[in-house]
Amino acid sequence: MCGDSTRWARTHRWSVKALTAPYTPIAIDSFLYNNEQGLAPDEAPHNGDCRIMGEFCWPDGRRFAFTIVDDTDFSSVSNTQPAYEFLCDCGILTTKTIWPLRPYGRGVTGGGTLEDSQYRAWVLRLQRSGFEIALHGVADGSSARAKVEAGLKLFHSLLGHEPGIHTNHCAQRESIYWGAGRLDAPLHQLYDGYRKLRHKRQFEGASTGSAYFWGDLCRMQVRYVRNFVFNDINTLKMDPVMPYYDCRRPYVRRWFSASNGSGPQDFCSLISEANQDRLEEEGGACIVYTHFGQGFYPLPPQFQLLVHRLSRKPGWFVPATQLLDYIGEQRGWCKVGEERATLNRMQWRWAWDRSAQALRKHWPAWTSEDKRSRPESRIAAP
Ligand SMILES: [Zn+2]
Repeated sequence: MCGDSTRWARTHRWSVKALTAPYTPIAIDSFLYNNEQGLAPDEAPHNGDCRIMGEFCWPDGRRFAFTIVDDTDFSSVSNTQPAYEFLCDCGILTTKTIWPLRPYGRGVTGGGTLEDSQYRAWVLRLQRSGFEIALHGVADGSSARAKVEAGLKLFHSLLGHEPGIHTNHCAQRESIYWGAGRLDAPLHQLYDGYRKLRHKRQFEGASTGSAYFWGDLCRMQVRYVRNFVFNDINTLKMDPVMPYYDCRRPYVRRWFSASNGSGPQDFCSLISEANQDRLEEEGGACIVYTHFGQGFYPLPPQFQLLVHRLSRKPGWFVPATQLLDYIGEQRGWCKVGEERATLNRMQWRWAWDRSAQALRKHWPAWTSEDKRSRPESRIAAP
């Protein structure tokens, strides 16, 4: 097996060394670009060298961009509100995902919905304060198409707009291009085999003919869908093409990546002082993917210290949809067609990061701490 992998990697000019080496910024003009007006790449609005990651120009002379997408798993008003009050005090506006509807039965993780009056009132207050409200599927569990339609309708009627962002939730059968569906061959087959050993969940959001199909609604109503999560603070360095359209996955208008801050420990490691300084030096963008509903109440002191330090830097702290709109409008919109080298490299890097994360979780000797003390150990890897 190992020999086969090595031979395959050599054939494709990959190696374990290359996968683990520091990521080199890539000039992204080898891709096809489109903007909303369908202009050719050279006509797309961009700013000279800003098309090359690492020299991106942020508004008002800001040196980097930072935001958070909060997965709503386990979230209640009492366990999540303090994180938002703190972020607001720091001047950091971010994105919170929600479920519009209650699940059938108990749900997978639990958490508030727009059907709960107290939770709904708090979500609307957050929106008025400048936070973005996004979608984590329509409920904490699987929802067939009719329920998805009802959830999207409720989202629009209460929040006044369609979701800028959607993120798939673990064990939602209507998840879109999820599991192995977000990977190209041969990773697709490898990951599919691995998943079948563990569980038999199917993801059918993009399968026409399934009762769980809602790909057409996703394409019409959702602007961005989250894909890969990396362990590097500079998300834009790991994904130099985001937000991008992938012609092999046409029901998603545009994909974006994130950086892993799943629980408090991962979050604090990600935004360590050294990483913050590097993000600023690289002029990059960070979109942290986290779960404020688990492990952030009471707010860990280290989290407060690090976020406060970050907020004092000359960063641009806006919600994720605003940040992604800006990147696309400034640089031109990227379309991944059959030239897929950068996307495939991202897929392998994600698989590598995820494998290392799984080893740390299931083999605590790899780390100094006991996995039972890690609150994020109950959360599915992003
Ligand atoms: Zn989730």
